[in-house]
Amino acid sequence: MNKSYTHKRLTEVGLKVTQPRLAILKILVESKEHPTVDDVYSKIQKSHPGISLATVYKTLETFTDTSLIKKVGSRESSIRYDARQDSHSHLICIKSNKMLDFHDSELNLLIEEYIKKKNIDNFEVQNIEVNLYGELINQKY
Ligand SMILES: [Zn+2]
Repeated sequence: MNKSYTHKRLTEVGLKVTQPRLAILKILVESKEHPTVDDVYSKIQKSHPGISLATVYKTLETFTDTSLIKKVGSRESSIRYDARQDSHSHLICIKSNKMLDFHDSELNLLIEEYIKKKNIDNFEVQNIEVNLYGELINQKY
C-alpha cells in the first residue's frame, strides 16, 4: 500500500491532506482486523506520539462522515472501523472480540430472494451485510 493511495482517497472525498490523516487512513487500509478507536490510537503512537485520543476519534468520525471508512459492529461499546469499500459480512467472535471478513455470495442471494418475496412495506433493500456472532474455535487467524 503506497502513500499516494491514501493521499488520493483523502483528496477524492474533499478532505485536506494532513500527516495524521494520512497515517490514520493507512492504518485502516492496511488492517484486516477492523480496529477500534483504541487500536488505531495505540498504533499511531509509533509514528505520531503526540496525537491525542480525541484527535484520533474525531478523524475517524470525519472519515466515516465522508464514507472513506465505515463503522461496523452493532454494539455501541465495540464500534470498529473498516476501510473496505465493497459490501461484505462479518464473523464476530464474542470471546476474543475479533472480527473477520466473511464473503458468501450464495447467502446474499438467498437473503435477497427471501426479502423480495417478503415485500417489506415502504422499504427498498440496497445492500445486505450480515454480522454473525459466535466463537472462533480454531484460532488460526
Ligand atoms: Zn470488514
